[in-house]
Amino acid sequence: MPIQQLPDHLINQIAAGEVIERPASVVKELVENSLDAGAGTIDIDIENGGSRLIRIRDNGRGIASNDLALALSRHATSKISSLDDLECVVSLGFRGEALPSIASVSRLSLASVQTGAEAARIDVDGGAAGDVVPFALQQGTRIEVRDLFYNTPARRKFLRTEKTEFRHIDLAVRRLALSHPSVAFTLRHNGKVVLQLPAASSIDAQERRLAQMLGESFADAAMRIDETLEGIALQGWIALPTFSRSQPDLQYTFINGRWVRDKTLMHAVRLGYRDVLFHGRHPAYVLSLSIDPARVDVNAHPAKHEVRFRDGQGVHEFVFRTLQRALAATTPGQSHDAPASFVQAPASIVSQVAVPLNEPTASALAAATSVATVDSRHDNYTFKTTPPVDGAQALRDMDALASGPPLGFALAQLKGVYILAQNDIGLVLVDMHAAHERITYERLKTDYANRNVVRQPLLVPERVALSQREVQLAHQHNDSLQHMGLIVEQAGPEALVLREIPSLLSTQNAAQLLRDVLSDFAEHGTSERTESVTDEMLSTLACHTSVRANRILTLAEMNALLRDMERTERSDQCNHGRPTWTQLSMKALDGLFLRGQ
Ligand code: ADP
Ligand code: MG
Repeated sequence: MPIQQLPDHLINQIAAGEVIERPASVVKELVENSLDAGAGTIDIDIENGGSRLIRIRDNGRGIASNDLALALSRHATSKISSLDDLECVVSLGFRGEALPSIASVSRLSLASVQTGAEAARIDVDGGAAGDVVPFALQQGTRIEVRDLFYNTPARRKFLRTEKTEFRHIDLAVRRLALSHPSVAFTLRHNGKVVLQLPAASSIDAQERRLAQMLGESFADAAMRIDETLEGIALQGWIALPTFSRSQPDLQYTFINGRWVRDKTLMHAVRLGYRDVLFHGRHPAYVLSLSIDPARVDVNAHPAKHEVRFRDGQGVHEFVFRTLQRALAATTPGQSHDAPASFVQAPASIVSQVAVPLNEPTASALAAATSVATVDSRHDNYTFKTTPPVDGAQALRDMDALASGPPLGFALAQLKGVYILAQNDIGLVLVDMHAAHERITYERLKTDYANRNVVRQPLLVPERVALSQREVQLAHQHNDSLQHMGLIVEQAGPEALVLREIPSLLSTQNAAQLLRDVLSDFAEHGTSERTESVTDEMLSTLACHTSVRANRILTLAEMNALLRDMERTERSDQCNHGRPTWTQLSMKALDGLFLRGQ
């Protein structure tokens, strides 16, 4: 064949192959046009999963009647006109490709009106445009797309069931609606309303909309994020770590109002949750990043789902730090609900358990601390040095307090595993091992960061048999080991002697501890001693040495632990993301006994 220029119609169909994958892509492109036109209300009607009809109506600024034909031709756009514009795109569209592409693979009807002008309509059948004719339309633009892919049978064959295609449409609309809270949306399928979202300008209204779209339980567990630094803003909601998902299905990220799957952003968020999430679980969040359009290239992907930042590292750091700081506040009395109420309490109780905790008053906190006489800074709950405390007296002290600290005061220990405590609301249950693990871990992290891990010499230095490789690793990472508070010496090709350990840790199982840390080194390689690798090792340390189950604690020791939890960042969950405590309100307890019913 000789070289020949392809006809426009075919060029458009090729372009459609890139941007119009399925009915949901049509919906996305058309709704984006409505948003770019400044619409405050967008109505979407779908028939048959979108393969029979997609109709979008908006109240945006509309298209002039003599521009209708132009809007349907390739590379025609009102959104950019120069390279400078392209380098700082503020609209969702800019390539002038969507309308001609869609028109080339469907039967399209475009009607529009601008204020003070006459409404008009143009129909296109598989790319062949008819005349512009007068039409009755009050406001904005109405686009109908019928019989999608009717003239491209190969594409049509790839359409899935009506239900599946509609699910994709529904998701596309949710993404657009989440990033444009001030726009009202209605989505209908085969005449039935599926989503009806009024415009939401206040944060309260936005939270109601969030609940409507992503579920009440997400909204209940969500923390508001609103942080600005040097011209970048991060806003939205992140779920408490204890509301985690088995799938990454509740993760929405937006950049300048555009839904994206950006690796930088998603990685930064994952890192922010690193320390608090149960292994293998996924965080839930809706986060919008606003940044000067000149600092991000949106022209990096056909469907614009990926972007390129000028300063990816800076963005990553900002997002990571913001999330890390927000999640550090998941401590009793700070986060609004008991963490465990989402996961573990029987369903009948769950609905009644989540009662907001009162902020502790300063005087109550002072009183609470005085009850806990144990020096908690260096007490590793080995319970040797604890002064005896009269339990009955402690109980009386506690009754005297009108409103106490968030976790209240210890009543007793259950089976060596749980601490039972009483606060304003009712009964508090604490998993003492999980809680202590977090406390030790956070202390180790602080000490480590300050190069201040206090060591304790072992009375009898412990000889640890290891493989040659492990001994090698210990050599290689000797600095890190020291920094962590572990002092070792070589004792032959396959053994080390452990001389000192961090004094926060108890001395049992010191050998096993060393082996685990070395295996962390082996797994995470040598060069990269990032914060996360260090944290993982500190977590290993903490896990090893915290209060094991079946330890008998005195009330004073229990109270000291409760006070420590209140002071410790992220203490709503243990190092592995399991909740550390839960609350049973009096109301929930009364419910168990059918009291007052
Ligand atoms: P792009 O959005 O990249 O500019 P499109 O092919 O999607 O390209 O649309 C072409 C042009 O048609 C737009 O630039 C805009 O001027 C006009 N247009 C499309 N849809 C609408 C709408 N709903 N309201 C107002 N103008 C619209
Ligand atoms: Mg467009």
